[in-house]
Amino acid sequence: MVLEGEGKMVSATEECIGPMRLTQEPIQVLLVFAKEDGQSDAFWWACDRAGFRCNIARTPESAVECFLDKSHEIVVIDGRHSQYFEAEAVCRLIRATKPSEHTVVLAIVPQTPLDQEEPSVRPLLCAGFSRRYVENISVSACYNELLQIEHGEVRCQFKLRACNSVFTALDHCQEAVEITSEDHVIQYVNPAFEHMMGYHKGELIGKELTELPKSDKNRADLLDTINTCIKKGKEWQGIYYARRKSGDSIQQHVKITPVIGQGGKIRHFVSIKRPHSDNNKQVSRHGSYFYYCKRSMSQYCVLLSPAPSLQNRRYSSVARIHSMTIEAPITKVINIINAAQESSPVSVADALDRVLEILRTTELYSPQLASKEDDPHTNDLVGGLMSDGLRRLSGNEYVFSKSTFPNMSQLAIPVTLNDIPPVIAEMLDDEDQWDFNILELEAATCKRPLTYLGLKIFSRFSVCEFLSCSEATLRCWLQVIEANYHASNSYHNSTHAADVLHATAYFLRKEKVKGSLDQLDEVAALIAATVHDVDHPGRTNSFLCNAGSELAILYNDTAVLESHHAALAFQLTVRDIKSNIFKNIDRTQFRTLRQAIIDMVLATEMTRHFEHVNKFANSINKPMAAIEEPSSNSEGSDSEGPASIRNSPENRLLIKRMMIKCADVANPCRPLELCIEWAGRISEEYFSQTDEEKREALPVVMPVFDRNTCSIPKSQISFIDYFITDMFDAWDAFANLPGLMEHLSENYKYWKGLDDMKCKSLRPPSPP
Ligand code: AMP
Ligand code: ZN
Repeated sequence: MVLEGEGKMVSATEECIGPMRLTQEPIQVLLVFAKEDGQSDAFWWACDRAGFRCNIARTPESAVECFLDKSHEIVVIDGRHSQYFEAEAVCRLIRATKPSEHTVVLAIVPQTPLDQEEPSVRPLLCAGFSRRYVENISVSACYNELLQIEHGEVRCQFKLRACNSVFTALDHCQEAVEITSEDHVIQYVNPAFEHMMGYHKGELIGKELTELPKSDKNRADLLDTINTCIKKGKEWQGIYYARRKSGDSIQQHVKITPVIGQGGKIRHFVSIKRPHSDNNKQVSRHGSYFYYCKRSMSQYCVLLSPAPSLQNRRYSSVARIHSMTIEAPITKVINIINAAQESSPVSVADALDRVLEILRTTELYSPQLASKEDDPHTNDLVGGLMSDGLRRLSGNEYVFSKSTFPNMSQLAIPVTLNDIPPVIAEMLDDEDQWDFNILELEAATCKRPLTYLGLKIFSRFSVCEFLSCSEATLRCWLQVIEANYHASNSYHNSTHAADVLHATAYFLRKEKVKGSLDQLDEVAALIAATVHDVDHPGRTNSFLCNAGSELAILYNDTAVLESHHAALAFQLTVRDIKSNIFKNIDRTQFRTLRQAIIDMVLATEMTRHFEHVNKFANSINKPMAAIEEPSSNSEGSDSEGPASIRNSPENRLLIKRMMIKCADVANPCRPLELCIEWAGRISEEYFSQTDEEKREALPVVMPVFDRNTCSIPKSQISFIDYFITDMFDAWDAFANLPGLMEHLSENYKYWKGLDDMKCKSLRPPSPP
């Protein structure tokens, strides 16, 4: 029979365990008495007085049933009348149930006759009783007993029960947690720890830390440092290599906290470990615990010495980084991102982690290429133009062909512009038109278009006035430079230089460009265009590096040709006073001019193509578009905003680089006939390189440029798709070049048309 007590003043009380605040519901008591008597009544009334809820069970079965239902904090079992039930047996039944773990079980025992020895409590304890109560039917005695139990054991058990929630939290937390005794015996590890280290907890608990294998990757004195620190009761935090059960090392961010316990002494050490960001990828293969937000790991790396708190450490390390006077912009960016991660939700912090990963690569501006099979033309072109000498073969030095000097007898060199033959002079009058035919000039000048065009263009831009040099010096200089272009190259000869000079002059006359640059910039650009490929051997940088050429060795396989063009240009200029166009300018102006020329020539190097284009788009196109958007100004009108964007020294540098780059590869934007001719010339130069590579058993840098198999239309489509379209879109957005863009589009269609008809050559097959 189960009777429900009539507890009146039942109310919840509050308890604290550590920082946790718990609410204890009114205590429930189960009285297991076969028969109602004075003792059972006394407990009944005592419960009532204490505000406890009370049930009474008459049989062992109903006791268990009722206990399973209510999970009483206190069970009182009558142990005076063994004819009804054995108290120890009932206790064992109760103890066999799960909820009894935190229950206090009280045995009522008869009074010991005065002449008898007090029996031992041991059998009762063994049966599962918590304590015994010697029969006493005073309600007050029962009440006192219940109060003592409540204040003592029940309250302790209540607090211990709350620990289950803490262990549940530890079991599910993603950081690896290990708790050891003060003498480093492992007492607890959570599942994340088992995952991370590859051990089962059974293999760890009870073991001393010293028994576990260590990684030999740590600094020799690191363990001593850690021990000294934590033994003083201070927290240690830093990067540590642990050894997994499999034997491999794992780099962890570890925080060890000493826990003060009984007697104010260190009783436990709690270690919290997470994989250090460097090996997150490796760790991710081993389990799921790593999906925590690995924020600002870079900031932790420097924190190998103890300090009062994590927060303080973070700030002090950041402060240290911020206080560095020489700080790279990328460091600033990474710091800003790290700081933003601190206060971001996990999804944002993870996205920022990916951003950081990308920022840490050096090739920030190089797009990733599709696999080789996808498009061999693009792969070869990009590989050939954008790489230099990482693969080197020794002993195969490339021998430069001797500079081909023009045949002086074929054409008298003009003394001044006025001495230029009328046919040529007439041609040069159209020099300011985009459709100017450089090939006709090449023919008319017996392959010396650079000198003639140079004289004309430099005169139109008043270069001699700016440099305070005579036209004779300029003429002499142009001749020297032109003489050092190789007429034997099908593409990289002085006609290409003249073509680039022409395009540069054309761009310099565009409103936006003119408004952005000063005269020094203009002069520098014209000189840079003139010299930008001087002494080009008709071979790519990769070829020179593979061949171990003298130039590649001189320039350490880095921007070999461009470095050579710039260096040689200045050597040739100052070698002879007659050709030294800089002889009359002051030192400061020379330095500025020289710097600008070198920067532009180096900008023609294709390995940094995407860097230059992206910087231009980000720093010039985007801000200008943002400012111009609202009023959508007509061409030529200018507001304060765009001019200030264009005219900063940094942005003028980007404009000059972009200008010479576009001029250098403008041939796909020329009228179709010129475009076809340039495509034929560059292909021939590439074919010739492939021939030589095969002949000399050098690596073939661009296998698609094999004269027996190459599809020129395909190669042009790839070149336009990969290098030209985006760059000219950006340049056109700035300089306004509708004519060029129209040619580009027409030419692209032309190559597509040939490719569609499976034609591999420059022109469609002529009808029979
Ligand atoms: P530069 O050597 O300074 O003339 O740099 C321009 C690069 O673009 C060179 O490596 C040329 O080979 C390449 N190039 C220019 N025009 C074309 C074209 N139509 N097709 C393929 N590559 C080209
Ligand atoms: Zn060039």
